[in-house]
Amino acid sequence: MGIKVDHDVVIIGSGFGGICSAIKLKEAGIDNFVMLEKDPVFGGTWRVNNYPGAACDIPSHLYSFSFAQNASWSRLFPRQDELLEYTKRVVEQHGLLPHLRLGSALQAAHYDEAGGFWRIRTSQGEMTTRTVISAMGFLGRPSTPKFPGLENFQGKAFHSATWDHSVDLRGKRVAVIGTGASAVQFIPEIQPLAAQLDSYQRTAHWVLPRPDRAVSRIEKWLLDRVKPLQLLYRAMHYVRYESRVVMFVFAPALTRFAQRESLRHLKRQVPDPALREKLTPRYTIGCKRVLLTSNYYPALMQPNVSVQTDGIREVRAHSIVNGKGEERPVDVIIYATGFDTEHAFGPIDIRGRGGKNFLKVFEDGAGAYKGSTVAGFPNFFMITGPNTGLGHNSMVYMIESGTRYVVDAISRLLKEDLHSVEVKEQVQRDYNHGLQGKLKGTVWSSGCKSWYLDSRGRNLLLWPGFTFHYRSITKRFDIQNYIVQGNR
Ligand code: NAP
Repeated sequence: MGIKVDHDVVIIGSGFGGICSAIKLKEAGIDNFVMLEKDPVFGGTWRVNNYPGAACDIPSHLYSFSFAQNASWSRLFPRQDELLEYTKRVVEQHGLLPHLRLGSALQAAHYDEAGGFWRIRTSQGEMTTRTVISAMGFLGRPSTPKFPGLENFQGKAFHSATWDHSVDLRGKRVAVIGTGASAVQFIPEIQPLAAQLDSYQRTAHWVLPRPDRAVSRIEKWLLDRVKPLQLLYRAMHYVRYESRVVMFVFAPALTRFAQRESLRHLKRQVPDPALREKLTPRYTIGCKRVLLTSNYYPALMQPNVSVQTDGIREVRAHSIVNGKGEERPVDVIIYATGFDTEHAFGPIDIRGRGGKNFLKVFEDGAGAYKGSTVAGFPNFFMITGPNTGLGHNSMVYMIESGTRYVVDAISRLLKEDLHSVEVKEQVQRDYNHGLQGKLKGTVWSSGCKSWYLDSRGRNLLLWPGFTFHYRSITKRFDIQNYIVQGNR
């Protein structure tokens, strides 16, 4: 009989990954768990990223849990506020509120080898737990570049992921730095407000139209009354998005068709050849995330918008000096410069067996096994861990797959009262060798610089294949690939 620990499971993060884990733990009869959330309110990406125009570029009926489908989505692509409402409803309906520990930021997690449990330190105190599920995701740490002279800037400045809603952009001269998935959503929203909007573009991205529209009342009614229709709808979207992996992974030559479509979209929306030239991408489509938007190019064509492509030389008290030495006045700087995916865990001190440093393991590029477990870290599991990200389909599908695997592992550990399970080092190495081999010929390795790759050019983020393959390998916990220490 081991020493008494506070919890069977501590989940870190209350986004889709954390919520899915909590629901599936409850379904498995595991109720002694808490879900830590560093902020005073729960919800992940879709609570944090609340900039104007924030929305998901995966269709609503697919970007939701298979076990909590929603017939009443108002649009084909869900807006941030509707996604957040959905999340709240799911949390309440599944009785997760008592498990939430808000304002409880994880600071350290240390494995107790003798006891087979984890000691957790949070901003609100300490606790012990048999197992940990990290559901922190990899887009949680905004990346803000340090331009020369930035400290002298006298105006307001904020990142898209920490949008300062108290700043009134009406009549302001606004500089937006970055032109990725977030920028293309909020630029069309703020352009009509700003006196002047300078869009600082380092790389022109591939853009495809976003076929968004309101879901009609009759569609909602049908989806609500005829349940198989919901499944069919979801399946249709799934197949459509999943098919994109064929060109990204297996036949990058096919990308030329998508590129042609994107260039047609550009030509249709931007008649000015000089602007079109600036906006024409120079890498293979899909290498960076493809942007879905129908109102971004039209916004760039407005007389109060200037697309700046010469870089930023210096920031002054009330201006930005571009790479050509031209000084452009600015009142507000908005960073749409993405996230530090390489250091997604930040400074959290996670120590496994023998004091092994989790952050160091990631720096070394060891990856994980099935995106879920790491050698040296017994009883520690991840949702959306290394190489489970997608460039083509719904992350919720991956989250549900990974969760099934992790909850199966934890159920087994608890039921059999095992001291610990830890993936075998060789198993993890072979698995990652296979993954990296598959990633070699993909579009993501075709030469562009993207957040999919770390500073050494390794792709430790994306899943290189069909998502249903990931689902099949995470169907059941494969205990034979683990070092198992028997009863506590
Ligand atoms: P992002 O796609 O990484 O875009 C960052 C932008 O900032 C890029 O244009 C990048 O240029 C630029 N940038 C970065 N550092 C810079 C620097 N030092 N100087 C000048 N420009 C710089 O970030 P994001 O738009 O926040 O999106 C991040 C991810 O969040 C997306 O890829 C997506 O997975 C997710 N997201 C999803 C949705 C959705 O609809 N599902 C919506 C928003 C975000 P380069 O291209 O040259 O690096």
